[in-house]
Amino acid sequence: SGAHAQGKELVVATDTAFVPFEFKQGNTYTGFDVDLWAAIAKELNLKYKLQPMDFAGIIPGLQTKNIDAALAGITIRDDRKKVIDFSDPYYESGLAILVGEKNTDIKDAASLAGKTVAVKTGTATVDFLKAQVPGAKLKLFPNIDNAYLELATGRVDAAVHDTPNVQYYANTAGKGRVKVIGSVKSGDFYGIAFPKGSDLVPQVNKALATLKANGQYDAIYEKWFGKKP
Ligand code: GLN
Repeated sequence: SGAHAQGKELVVATDTAFVPFEFKQGNTYTGFDVDLWAAIAKELNLKYKLQPMDFAGIIPGLQTKNIDAALAGITIRDDRKKVIDFSDPYYESGLAILVGEKNTDIKDAASLAGKTVAVKTGTATVDFLKAQVPGAKLKLFPNIDNAYLELATGRVDAAVHDTPNVQYYANTAGKGRVKVIGSVKSGDFYGIAFPKGSDLVPQVNKALATLKANGQYDAIYEKWFGKKP
């Protein structure tokens, strides 16, 4: 039944910094995930408070049930499905390389071998690079904005992270200092995450389907990413 979820103030985790899905603007958090959850909560009549935290804390927080739901561009993976539940996919993503504006020697994933690469703790990128480019020297950051700063100031050779985030950063704060080297992985999907067995999963899937059918999902998408190609 829905009585449980509707009766209390839910704790909904989000990432500290993952433009344009969630990021701090003034004193509040905004972004695609923040808007999407607001629309879902309205549809389901849910009360909640947003709890931004470093990405690496989110899955453990769901496992201990300190968090009721999480939106952080979380990639749906079989290993994660063993410990948490996911909603239906809500966004298609991938991974991309970011380098300094003047860089000429990094062209693809393989050319990261022997390079120092900034990545974010606990993310799918770390697993991807360890498996695909064991020669890359990974430098871990809990907050990707600090990784990008490190790149912009030339202390690492590259950064690798989720494509929409890399692209957004390159077009905004990083403009003129960094450039995107094409996608190194595609076909990932983001899901909203829950503790295993949460009764919110079917409710949220139903709300997602409603928002996709009535145009609200598209309106939120276009607000942050422009018209769908
Ligand atoms: N999609 C990445 C993952 O699930 C993380 C995205 C993010 O940094 N919030 O590992």
